[in-house]
Amino acid sequence: MIITLESNASKEELDAVIALAARYDGVQPKVYTFAGEGATVSEVHLVGNTQAVPTEPFEELGSVRSVVRVSKKYRLIGRHDKTASHQFVYNGVRFGDDDMHVFAGLCAVDTREHVEQVMAALQQHGVTTTRMGAYKPRTSPYEFQGLGAKCLPWVFELAGKYGVRVIAMEVTDARHIDEIQRALEASGRATGVMLQIGTRNAQNFELLKVVGQQRELPVLFKRGMGITLEESLNAAEYIASEGNPNIVFCLRGVKSHLGDPMRNLVDFAHVPVVRKLTRLPVCVDPSHSVGRADVAPDGLPYIFHVIGQGLIAGATNVLIDFHPKPETALCDGPQALTLDKLPILLTYVDRVRTAYLDVCKLYR
Ligand code: PEP
Ligand code: MN
Repeated sequence: MIITLESNASKEELDAVIALAARYDGVQPKVYTFAGEGATVSEVHLVGNTQAVPTEPFEELGSVRSVVRVSKKYRLIGRHDKTASHQFVYNGVRFGDDDMHVFAGLCAVDTREHVEQVMAALQQHGVTTTRMGAYKPRTSPYEFQGLGAKCLPWVFELAGKYGVRVIAMEVTDARHIDEIQRALEASGRATGVMLQIGTRNAQNFELLKVVGQQRELPVLFKRGMGITLEESLNAAEYIASEGNPNIVFCLRGVKSHLGDPMRNLVDFAHVPVVRKLTRLPVCVDPSHSVGRADVAPDGLPYIFHVIGQGLIAGATNVLIDFHPKPETALCDGPQALTLDKLPILLTYVDRVRTAYLDVCKLYR
């Protein structure tokens, strides 16, 4: 059972809910706080034998906004009919239903010059979110594994210089989180990092627990490429269950030759499903879904076409590979767009989003 308090309820009001819960045997209250823009919302989750617990006594408390019985599934990330979408602010950037973000950047950090070219282009076009891979999980041990911790000082410095506030950065081991935190601190918190869990680690439960045990950095969770959506949602629940609710759920295609010639079978039809089942902001990654920069007869890259599918289905975040010189990229060059396409992409995103919102209005 989830008891949501009115925003900015007092400590005494929260204590009253906990005291009432304590009257029922076999029920443990757990408190979760969600800090949004200008308001903090607390939830008390009753865990245990809650079947016999009536909702009315809680509803009668003045400070309670709603009381919802939830199934065991997706207790924290689940939408449970009445619970609102999750919104959070990180390093001055708000994530939620009304906020569109394009994380455009390098699949893998290679040179300082390329990072600076990307950051400068982002600033020129008013983008404050990017992707920069420092730790790369590669299929072969002989492929470029990413520059690791040694590139973090200059990546963070350049992000700060060009006003980039959030970098999506994959971590494949708990040690990477400490390295990122140390480098952020040393940079004077020049920027922020959203910890990315890659598709290959979607069920690395120990890693999921570690990113969930810290609350400072939000998490971009990528669905597993070879598991069901339900399994991926349960994996995201691991993160929240450890205490970090600030998760963006990213679709990136699933592994199947039925998607050929694209790298993966594009799964953006799942956007509304994820939005119905969970309250998390949804992201689409067209680059790893499509895996190639081919252009359709209409002049648009396949990558644009699948972004359109994701946005028209209600996604609010796009994670996309760019590279100043894709032919020199050390990882995933064939799917990277060149920087001259960035303003066109932003216009496209804006127009498709507007079309989506207009159609939603017609239905209301
Ligand atoms: C990536 O975003 O660089 C990446 C490796 O993606 P995925 O985990 O979706 O393959
Ligand atoms: Mn990649």
